[in-house]
Amino acid sequence: MRWQGGRRGGNIEDRRGLGGAGIAGGGIGALVLAAIGYFVFGIDPQTTQQITSQLGGVGSAEQGTQGSPEDQAGAFVDVIGTNVDDVWKTKLQGYEPPTVVIYEQGTSTGCGFGQAAMGPFYCPSDRRVYLDLSFWRQMESQLGASAADFARAYVIAHEYGHHVQTLTGASQQVQRAQQRASGQAEANRYSVALELQADCYAGVWAANAAAVSNGAVALEAGDIEEGLRTASAIGDDTLQRRQGGQVVPEGFTHGSSAQRAEWLRRGYQTGDPAACDTFSAF
Ligand SMILES: [Zn+2]
Repeated sequence: MRWQGGRRGGNIEDRRGLGGAGIAGGGIGALVLAAIGYFVFGIDPQTTQQITSQLGGVGSAEQGTQGSPEDQAGAFVDVIGTNVDDVWKTKLQGYEPPTVVIYEQGTSTGCGFGQAAMGPFYCPSDRRVYLDLSFWRQMESQLGASAADFARAYVIAHEYGHHVQTLTGASQQVQRAQQRASGQAEANRYSVALELQADCYAGVWAANAAAVSNGAVALEAGDIEEGLRTASAIGDDTLQRRQGGQVVPEGFTHGSSAQRAEWLRRGYQTGDPAACDTFSAF
């Protein structure tokens, strides 16, 4: 994908360089947080490494046109985040942008202590998207810059999707439904519907990205295929198989590879959030 511009003064809270004060350095806490990360985005750090190396593919080195090399990542988050905001302003009345926190190592959040190993996540109680930029670098070194760009933008747009769900009340409805659920399997089905909707919303962003922000972001041939490959690589069945276990659909929290790719595609093909009703589709 192509993107241009340096920092746009978006809603970014830059906590890099603050260090990871309070990190105990691994242990049980880190394991618990890694597990939370898995639930929020569906990737655990080990699998991420496997996924990205499996995706392979060396893209051409493409970069933004401004900003110091060391802050390409910060500029990217700003440009893409602002672009996702611009899309949602045209799709959702009363849309309010989330704050995006970029950090390294660890940081405190309204949802507990955030740690790099968790991967990207959204915290509904403080309405912030948390992005750890060392995860970014890892994606780039393993995917190649160009391929990683769209995969990273998809991740950002997915987390913004959870923000939209908080604004529409879908997240809160799911939480209530999960409290009433008769068992874990039923609770998981709600989680899958919520996650697939966030994937579909990422597709809605991709469909509309070039039409807003004065053309600061443009998709290129192969980007959507890259996104579909990424979505498919983080499907629950694929992750379960990779972790050496049997595929247990009742244990899915994010949806199968086929479902994740399908809903991303549906959002992209329609460009319309109304097409993302994953709840009645279940
Ligand atoms: Zn998610």
